[in-house]
Amino acid sequence: MAFSRLVPPISVDPLSTQGLRDEVRQFLDDQRAAGAFTPSVDAWLSGWDENFTAALAARGWLGMTVPVEYGGHGRSFLERFAVTEELLAAGAPVAAHWIADRQIVPSLLKYGTESQKLAFLPGIVRGECFFAIGMSEPESGSDLASVRTRATRVDGGWSLTGTKVWTSGAHLAHAFIVLARTAPLDPEHRHAGLSQFIVDLRGPGVDVRPIVSMNGAHHFNEVILDEAFLPDDMVFGAIGDGWRQVTSELSFERSGPERYLSTFVLLAACADRMAANAIPRNADLGRLVARVTGLHHMSTAVAGALERREPADIPAALVKVLGTVTEGDIAEFADLQDSPDRIFAELVRAAVDQRPGFTLRGGTNEVLRGVIARGLGLR
Ligand SMILES: Cc1cc2nc3c(=O)[nH]c(=O)nc-3n(C[C@H](O)[C@H](O)[C@H](O)COP(=O)(O)OP(=O)(O)OC[C@H]3O[C@@H](n4cnc5c(N)ncnc54)[C@H](O)[C@@H]3O)c2cc1C
Repeated sequence: MAFSRLVPPISVDPLSTQGLRDEVRQFLDDQRAAGAFTPSVDAWLSGWDENFTAALAARGWLGMTVPVEYGGHGRSFLERFAVTEELLAAGAPVAAHWIADRQIVPSLLKYGTESQKLAFLPGIVRGECFFAIGMSEPESGSDLASVRTRATRVDGGWSLTGTKVWTSGAHLAHAFIVLARTAPLDPEHRHAGLSQFIVDLRGPGVDVRPIVSMNGAHHFNEVILDEAFLPDDMVFGAIGDGWRQVTSELSFERSGPERYLSTFVLLAACADRMAANAIPRNADLGRLVARVTGLHHMSTAVAGALERREPADIPAALVKVLGTVTEGDIAEFADLQDSPDRIFAELVRAAVDQRPGFTLRGGTNEVLRGVIARGLGLR
């Protein structure tokens, strides 16, 4: 009984997307040959390249699941899954549109008003509208119900005050969806009284401040909201329904192939060098390949469940826990290889640098293990 909940049934023939995968591979070969990108580790988070995003949009590979009436391509979630898996496996720079395409599209389709769909979906499909996520705060990460950002009712809308942190790409994105308290915390019902808002990152009362990482990269930001005015039409979903909305968004955020392919280019680089006897043969490589293969099947199964509109939060959490540990193990395995190759060393350095974030972002593995245990009725 437990197993049917851990991995949903795979109801589609994975080979049905083979033609699409071939097209994406050809596109990626052409882009690499033209020098449009150099494969890198964790490129879905740190590879912000708006030209590459525009090239994908021109091929119809952004907003694939957006219905045609909103400028989209009306394709299936599984087709999107095949395209994103190929892009990630190639280490392509997809960060600019990643959040918008991955979770803002399904959230807008589910909770957005007609005018919000018309305002944002066509721009996302064209690769011209980028989003960030405004959930975490200085004292609130795993326990999101404790967010202190407050939205107060004012004439014609809402006034938002608070601080968001670790906001990936807020300095480059156009808007972010903010989780805020619209009613005081009730200790008996901690998840009540939360709401979401679509906030223009360049709007008045919004100050985006950089947080520079130890390796010198600017990826994170702190976003200060100081009585930022939001008109009523930027309320996202229903007032008071923020918790339910956020948690449904998390299935999309947690289950995708970016949770096991962040270091795939490094795994492939290890395999290439081992095959060429440039690094010593080691059976652990095969073990890592087997783990990634299993994760591919599990994530495909979750994509199928999302396509069927079935709840998939527990399997998504499982993919994320197992996948992010595997990504880190690939970094560690590659770091143990003694290779003078400069390109290889650069990939290893990037993977080791990024590794601590793998099991934190999108919910920590400790917390997700609790989610899985609860889903299985074990706690
Ligand atoms: C690369 C990266 C990108 C990110 N991008 C964004 C973004 O764009 N937008 C955004 O809103 N946030 C973002 N985050 C923040 C991320 O969601 C939080 O870091 C994460 O939710 C954990 O919250 P925290 O850092 O406050 O840690 P805490 O919640 O303070 O946790 C600290 C430690 O305590 C453990 N812990 C906490 N509660 C429990 C529990 N109940 N049981 C067991 N252990 C527990 C955790 O596992 C962790 O090890 C990003 C983080 C990273 C690393």
